Amino acid sequence: MKIIVDPDKCISCNMCEDVSDGAMGVKFGKNDKAGQNPEADFTDRVVVANVKLAIETCPTQAIKLED
Ligand code: SF4
Repeated sequence: MKIIVDPDKCISCNMCEDVSDGAMGVKFGKNDKAGQNPEADFTDRVVVANVKLAIETCPTQAIKLED
């Protein structure tokens, strides 16, 4: 699985870092846009659940999860 952030939608609010408990965030992306933490472990269902919560709460719906 990997996190895809649409850079045209992301407003760099960094809410996803808190909500995903560090599985993603602005500091992991390019050009001040959110990206995936390279250490995020998608075999851990807690991590996946946190990312799904970030997807739901992103104010601009910029995040997707791909298999
Ligand atoms: S919550 Fe959404 S808009 Fe905010 S930094 Fe994360 S991906 Fe970007």
